[in-house]
Amino acid sequence: MPETTPLRVAIVGAGIAGLGAAIALQKHDGIDVQLYERAHQLQEIGASIALGPNGMRTLERLGVHEALEDDVAFRNKSGRPMVYRHWKTNEVVSVDHHRGKVEYRHQTARYYRPHLQQALLAHIDPSRIHTGKAFAAVEELHHQGDDTLLVSFADGSTVTADVLLGADGINSAVRRSFVPSSAPKWTGWVAFRSVFDAKLVEHIPGVLEEANHWWGHDRTFFASRLGRDLFTVVGGWHGDPDAHAGSPYQASTWNSDGDVAVLREYYKDWHPVVRQMIDASPYTRLYPNTFASSLESWVHGGGRVTYAGDAAHAHGGAFAAGGSLALDDAYAFALAIFHVYPPGSAHKPGEAGIRTALGLYEQTRKAHTDRVLSTVREGNKKKVESLGRTETDEQLRRRMSDRADPAWIHEHDVEAAFAQAVEREGKTPTAEQARL
Ligand SMILES: Cc1cc2nc3c(=O)[nH]c(=O)nc-3n(C[C@H](O)[C@H](O)[C@H](O)COP(=O)(O)OP(=O)(O)OC[C@H]3O[C@@H](n4cnc5c(N)ncnc54)[C@H](O)[C@@H]3O)c2cc1C
Repeated sequence: MPETTPLRVAIVGAGIAGLGAAIALQKHDGIDVQLYERAHQLQEIGASIALGPNGMRTLERLGVHEALEDDVAFRNKSGRPMVYRHWKTNEVVSVDHHRGKVEYRHQTARYYRPHLQQALLAHIDPSRIHTGKAFAAVEELHHQGDDTLLVSFADGSTVTADVLLGADGINSAVRRSFVPSSAPKWTGWVAFRSVFDAKLVEHIPGVLEEANHWWGHDRTFFASRLGRDLFTVVGGWHGDPDAHAGSPYQASTWNSDGDVAVLREYYKDWHPVVRQMIDASPYTRLYPNTFASSLESWVHGGGRVTYAGDAAHAHGGAFAAGGSLALDDAYAFALAIFHVYPPGSAHKPGEAGIRTALGLYEQTRKAHTDRVLSTVREGNKKKVESLGRTETDEQLRRRMSDRADPAWIHEHDVEAAFAQAVEREGKTPTAEQARL
């Protein structure tokens, strides 16, 4: 045990990014990591979530092996990450492939979100998680050469910390406290989602074997089996977010009640396989999609505050990449802290060391996630521009076949990116620093 006082890392938000970072950091005896979560209880809410090979590898590095098991993680029988089908004929028009060498256990998997959350939670000492703590503000304290952060919560309580990680999701209050203009905006898409017992769709041919994405001219439909014999369907409505008339979902809120009859109406001309799945859905809930452009810097608060997950890149879940990006952020953050404060080291980093760590973290993650954000922004723009335009069947098929290959997102190697960031700094990481 180091003799100095521990490095205090406060994490705001106990979602996938916050939990992942805490799991990694708690392995270091010289780090006191604490999580502050707004919710009063870590409830089992949410629908489905996908992890690509990058997220699966990071889960394994974090030691969350049970989340890789078939019991909770559903993988396509064909091994393909995604299958794209025609809305009217149900034929396969295109497929995604894993590009690099991807072991079975790292193949793209789909979860009921609470199962993933439970697997992460099982790896954290519950005494580190403080619920009912909504972030309110952070200020730098300078006292006789000993600089710290004072973090305040909505209930009036405060804590001091050496480093603050804002992992408080897409509407991050930590991020907005430094960049007020970074509030995400509605993209014009509202997802209708539900999760239910897979038995309700077992009579529909083929739907339990593969995650499928049906593309139509003005909307898409996604369906997949999940772990523990659950099933999810995701339909949607697209509109112009800036149109003041005719936007029925302008005021809809995240995870609010939807109407299955409306969903049936939207898909009434689609292939019977899609219609049967909607008929089998016992309910639907609404999730308006939002987006914010990339931050200029990921480091604020005198070099002691940074972000992870949706708080760092409010991409709105496009490419089903949010969970994996959050896990990779969490892991890269821990690698960067360990770089300046290797396990077993007796001396915790001072201001300069913390600045170096957060700088390395930003260099490891920001360029990659900025590219994700600009790709998503272009896609959102094209979707709005295409509203009301007629598209021939041939054009639709070409759009499906010509879509960009997302393997660069799903197979991104965060350890290699970290090693490159360290190299750019002119220091090669030791084997211990390069891998937790
Ligand atoms: C309830 C819920 C359901 C979701 N369901 C899906 C889904 O079905 N499919 C999907 O693809 N993605 C879903 N997401 C988003 C997905 O989990 C994220 O894109 C991704 O996992 C990134 O995780 P994150 O940790 O950055 O953010 P999140 O998972 O959003 O976690 C952020 C955490 O911070 C907490 N928080 C927020 N504000 C404050 C504050 N001021 N102070 C303290 N704590 C705060 C939140 O309560 C939450 O626990 C969901 C998110 C949530 C919160």
